[in-house]
Amino acid sequence: MFDVIVVGTGAGGSTALKVLCEAGLNVCALNSGPRMDPENDYRGHRQVYDLKYRGFGDPLRLAGKAHQEPYSVEESEYSEGKDLFEHDVAYSNAPGTDWYWKRCKATGGKANFWGRSSARFSEIDFKAADLDGFGENWPVDSAEISPWFSKAERYMGVASTIQNRPSNPDGEYLPPMPFRCLDFILQKACEKIGVPYLPDRCAQLTVEHNNHPACHYCGNCSRGCDVGSFFSPTWFTIPDAEATKRLTLLTNALVRGVLVDENGVAKGVAYVDRTTKREVEVYASVVVLAASCVETAHIMLNSKSRHWPTGIANSSGQVGRNLCEHLYGCPGYGYLPQLVGQPPTPDNIADSTVSWMPRWHNLKNPREEKFIRGYSIYMGGGCGEFPGHYRELEGFGKQYKRDIKRYYPATVGGLIQAPTLPSPTNYVDIDPDKSDIFGIPQLRFHFQWGENELLMWEHSKQVMIDLFKAAGGELWGADSVPNRPGTSLHETGVCRFGNDPKRFVTNKWAQTHDVPNLYICDASIFPNCTDKTTTMPIVAFTMRNCDHMLENFRKGLHKRA
Ligand SMILES: Cc1cc2nc3c(=O)[nH]c(=O)nc-3n(C[C@H](O)[C@H](O)[C@H](O)COP(=O)(O)OP(=O)(O)OC[C@H]3O[C@@H](n4cnc5c(N)ncnc54)[C@H](O)[C@@H]3O)c2cc1C
Ligand code: SF4
Repeated sequence: MFDVIVVGTGAGGSTALKVLCEAGLNVCALNSGPRMDPENDYRGHRQVYDLKYRGFGDPLRLAGKAHQEPYSVEESEYSEGKDLFEHDVAYSNAPGTDWYWKRCKATGGKANFWGRSSARFSEIDFKAADLDGFGENWPVDSAEISPWFSKAERYMGVASTIQNRPSNPDGEYLPPMPFRCLDFILQKACEKIGVPYLPDRCAQLTVEHNNHPACHYCGNCSRGCDVGSFFSPTWFTIPDAEATKRLTLLTNALVRGVLVDENGVAKGVAYVDRTTKREVEVYASVVVLAASCVETAHIMLNSKSRHWPTGIANSSGQVGRNLCEHLYGCPGYGYLPQLVGQPPTPDNIADSTVSWMPRWHNLKNPREEKFIRGYSIYMGGGCGEFPGHYRELEGFGKQYKRDIKRYYPATVGGLIQAPTLPSPTNYVDIDPDKSDIFGIPQLRFHFQWGENELLMWEHSKQVMIDLFKAAGGELWGADSVPNRPGTSLHETGVCRFGNDPKRFVTNKWAQTHDVPNLYICDASIFPNCTDKTTTMPIVAFTMRNCDHMLENFRKGLHKRA
């Protein structure tokens, strides 16, 4: 019996662990996979040609698994054999849906390998429904959440500059990541076409911060940092929580549902111990779900009882609804002739989060464009370890290799981050016919891109044409279609927070309306995506919501175990 159970040890769950343990509570954390062990699991600092499969990994390693598709950069030969990623727990796609659900099941979750872009949400995000009449306002405003954004930034360490733009409020920053040569060229070109081009907000330590060392620019971030020079639960929040000696961390513990007492109030969780395949129960006064957006909805929908026949805390019928996502894709790639022949320098350390073109649409008038709201673009390029532009060149043999080298310092490409709008046809539910290998009914995705984000996608392709022209660059092409839904890993919305219990799953403190001792600490509470990423806000909202939970303990609403 614990004061609090936290399901998941990713950015959301581990922040809850830190806050609650440091406040004196006894907390049990359950994590579906093994403990992340940086010394053995991060096999960075090696060249791909030193690895048997040149970094791609054994093509047969996932044979027989429920999901055989390896995840992108973060899952490669560098982490092979460690069982850090979820390939055993199956999920379904409804006909016509092609959701790509990437899951890191090790402690710390996806933020062991994340991209580190860390911008604040803004007032025009929170009040977007008032401005353009679509969807729901958020139940918070900037004045209320800004101090928590500051707290999260001060803790995580975010490098950036003051930019004075309405859609991306400034925060408390470390010195910015240095621009690459290509950034100076593109920034000038952007001035000509009236588009902002600025340093991104990047949670990577340009200087030593809170006893975490400054980045040594090895470029291995997507394979995990071996010294903790960017924010990750493995290096930050989990050690902080463990230092209190009030944390019990259970690994390989796959939670299947929340248990309730005779009044329908949460009393604990049931999990499958993956090593013994046995089901185990653990109890607490309060349960926090932080299994990552859609998995939190999955657990809730599977938590059926006499009190909650459609899933726990689902009297509104809203659990699983309003799934939102970022449309990702490359709207333009090519090269800058000015850089051909330049000596290579290791300049793309933070990769896509060095620079960004933050939302510049619909700022004065919410209906300036054909679409509502706006998107952002990250510009990638510079001298990475692997010359990804080999795909754009034709040939073979010596001449082909020479061409790859010739263009090596000069290639650039965009990555659009366009928010989808909530739609009644985009949601998750439980597949009535299928269960995973542990007998747990599996999650099913229903998702299609909407007209608004597809208009943004077309718009961004024209921006790239204009940008390359203004920069004197040569545009080689653009993705013919956006990336698969799920690619961005910024899904939101399936347990939206709001004041009306009939229309929202939780209140503004992420406490479910129906079950007051059940809280949610991940992006599922966010009513929609903005043009910004979600992780720093997950940390900030979790800090705030756990502070409120502690107040509820002090007031006696929740009792210590
Ligand atoms: C390559 C990459 C680049 C990214 N770039 C960015 C970026 O630039 N900026 C940004 O903001 N975000 C980025 N993200 C997304 C970011 O990593 C996520 O937003 C964030 O990590 C989500 O945290 P979370 O705690 O909600 O979920 P997760 O990190 O997924 O953690 C969930 C945890 O819950 C556990 N769990 C799941 N199901 C169960 C269960 N049933 N029982 C018990 N435990 C369970 C898992 O083991 C895991 O530890 C990126 C991610 C990746 C992989
Ligand atoms: S580049 Fe910096 S943050 Fe990235 S892995 Fe190396 S030391 Fe860590």
